[in-house]
Amino acid sequence: MRRAIFPGSFDPLTLGHSDIITRAINLFDEVVVAIGINASKKYMFSLEERQQFIQKAFKNEPKVKVVTYQGLTVDFCKEIEANFILRGLRNPADFEFEKAIAHTNRTLSKIETVFLLTSAQTSFISSSIVRDVIRNNGDYTILVPDTVRVK
Ligand code: ADP
Repeated sequence: MRRAIFPGSFDPLTLGHSDIITRAINLFDEVVVAIGINASKKYMFSLEERQQFIQKAFKNEPKVKVVTYQGLTVDFCKEIEANFILRGLRNPADFEFEKAIAHTNRTLSKIETVFLLTSAQTSFISSSIVRDVIRNNGDYTILVPDTVRVK
């Protein structure tokens, strides 16, 4: 069973994330979208909202599971028997950052990190940009799946 975990904050899920998840479905038997809980981070959307956005977006996709986790990603991978960590790459800054994390994870465990390059249409989108657009009353709906809406 090729199980990959796609870890992140997903505050909120964007079209960039959903592009990576959709493409990963063809590569793995199961894609576990794992929302990391970081007590020291302030989020715009609650954990439940973030979870719901993803669950609803992929409700017709049995290969996609949504979970939350605390602690090290590699420990959680062992717990759920995931052999791959999936990450998206948008630009050189992402690459440098991700490289250090992937090396660390590979040192701590035998888990492989698999990178997918973003599609050109969504490569500029980030959750932080979406949050900025929301805060300033812009039309964020063109940057996120239909299931992501501000109450
Ligand atoms: P984190 O706080 O771990 O960076 P994010 O929710 O921001 O969590 O991102 C989770 C993953 O999704 C990361 O691998 C990130 O590179 C990837 N990602 C974010 N935005 C995009 C995008 N527009 N296209 C492809 N991948 C993306």
